[in-house]
Amino acid sequence: MKTLDVISPMDGQTIGSIEISDAVAVGAAVGRAQAAFESWRATPVKERVQPLFRFKQLAEANIGELSELVSAESGKTVGEAKAGIEKGLEVVEFATSLPFVGQGGKLEVSRGVDCYTRSYPLGVVAGISPFNFPAMVPLWMYPIAIATGNTFLLKPSEQVPLTSARMGELLLEAGLPENVFQVVQGDKTTVEHIVDHSGIEAVGFVGSTKIARIVYERGIAAGKRMLCLGGAKNHLVVVPDADVEVTAKNVVASATGCAGQRCMAASVLITVGDCSEVLAAIEAEMRKIVAGQNMGAIINAAAKEHIESYIDRAEAAGATIRVDGRGVQVGGKSDGFYVGPTLIEGVDAGSECACDEIFGPVLTVLNVDTLDEALAIENENPYGNAASIYTTNGATARYFEDRASSGMIGVNIGVPVPREPFSFGGWNESKFGMGDITGTDGARFWTKQKKITQKWTVSGQQNWMS
Ligand code: NAD
Repeated sequence: MKTLDVISPMDGQTIGSIEISDAVAVGAAVGRAQAAFESWRATPVKERVQPLFRFKQLAEANIGELSELVSAESGKTVGEAKAGIEKGLEVVEFATSLPFVGQGGKLEVSRGVDCYTRSYPLGVVAGISPFNFPAMVPLWMYPIAIATGNTFLLKPSEQVPLTSARMGELLLEAGLPENVFQVVQGDKTTVEHIVDHSGIEAVGFVGSTKIARIVYERGIAAGKRMLCLGGAKNHLVVVPDADVEVTAKNVVASATGCAGQRCMAASVLITVGDCSEVLAAIEAEMRKIVAGQNMGAIINAAAKEHIESYIDRAEAAGATIRVDGRGVQVGGKSDGFYVGPTLIEGVDAGSECACDEIFGPVLTVLNVDTLDEALAIENENPYGNAASIYTTNGATARYFEDRASSGMIGVNIGVPVPREPFSFGGWNESKFGMGDITGTDGARFWTKQKKITQKWTVSGQQNWMS
C-alpha cells in the first residue's frame, strides 16, 4: 500500500507515516461499518451515548498528550491545540444530550388519531476534514453521527492524520463497539473512493471552497446527502466609537491565532472614518506576536510560499506593509515553516489580498467613510463564514448584525464561533448544502425521520376491559 510521511510544520521533521487507503481498503471499511450498523442502530440512544460520556472523560484525562500531538502535526501552539480539543469536546457533550433533546413531537391530529415522529440513522456515513483543526473539526461530525445511530468513517487530512487515529483508540477504550468508528487514511483519491461508494449514505466535508464544491457536486450526483463547509474571508469592521484597547487586542488575536489558519480568522479589517488611533494600537499589538514563540507554524512549505507571495504582490502593487512577516527565522527550527504577523495597508477593496482567502497571519486594512460602505464590501465577498463589528453602540451593532452577509456574527468578538448548542455554519460559498454541521442541525443531517399516524379502535369483543 502507498504510504505518506507526516511532517511536523514546527521543524520539518518526519513524525509518522500513514498508509493510503485505496478503493479496496475503503470498500473493506464500509463492509465492516455495515456489519456494525446492524446492532448499533438497534441499540437505544441512551445506551449509545454511554461510550461518549466515557470518551469525553478519557480525552480530558489525556488532554496534555492529545494537545502535544495536535500541535506537533498541525504546527499550532500547545495552548491553541488544547483549546481546539476542548471546543470539540463540547460537541460530545451535545451528542450525549440527544436522548433528551433529540426527540420528535407527538400530537393528536384528529379524534383518536396520533401522529408522531421517529428519527432513524442513515447507515454508514463519512466525514472528511481539513488540516487546521485535527481534533475539533472531526469532532463536529462523529459524536453526533454516532449518537444518532450511524457507523462512521473519518478521513482526516493527510497532513494531520495522527490525532484522528489516537481518537479512534480512545473511543474503543471508552467502550464504543468495534467498527462503529473507523479512520480511513488518505488524500484526494481516498476522498473520491468514499464519495463514490454506494454503501455510504451521507458525507460531511470541511475544507477549502474549491474542494468543498467539487466534493459536494460529486456526492450529490452519486445520490448522497452532502454537507460541505468551505473557506472564508472574514471582515472585521471598526467604527470610531470602538474601545481602542479591547478592539486592538481582539483584532490581532483573531488575525494571528493559529497563525491565521482558521476559517473564522480575521482577514480584512475595515475602518470607518478616522480610526488612526486603533490602527496604531493594532500595529503595536501585532509586534508583540512572534512566530515560533507565541504564534505557531504554517502547515507546509507550499502554504508559506503562497502566503508570502500575496505580501510580495501587494507590495509590488504599491501597498504599505506596516508589519512584515516575511523571511522569519525561528531559532533551532530552520526547517520549520513560519510567517510572522503581517499588516497590509493601501490596497483597493477589489485587490487580491482584500478578496482571496490567504490563510495565514495576514490582515489587510481598508478604510471607508460610512458603515454602509463597509457592509457593501462585506456583502460583495462571495464567502460568508464570519463578520464582526467593534463598537460601543448597541444600535450600530444591531444594524450591522442585520445586514452582514455571514452565518456567524461577532460584536466586539473577532472569532465569533458559536458555543454549543448554537450550531456552526457559514453562508454563501462558505457552505454547500442545507443546515449547520453541529447542534440540532447536525442531528437532522445524520438522520431521517419517519412520521407515524396511528389509530386504535377498541373492539366490542374485548369484554375483559370492563
Ligand atoms: P482542503 O480543501 O485542501 O482539504 C480538505 C480535505 O479534502 C482533506 O481531507 C483533503 O485530503 C481533501 N482533498 C484535497 N483535495 C481534494 C480533491 N481534489 N478532491 C477531493 N478531496 C480533496 O483544505 P485544507 O487545506 O486541508 O484546509 C484549509 C481550508 O479549510 C481553508 O480553506 C479553510 O477555510 C477551510 N476550513 C473551513 C472550515 C469551515 O468550517 N468552513 C473549517 C476549517 C477549515
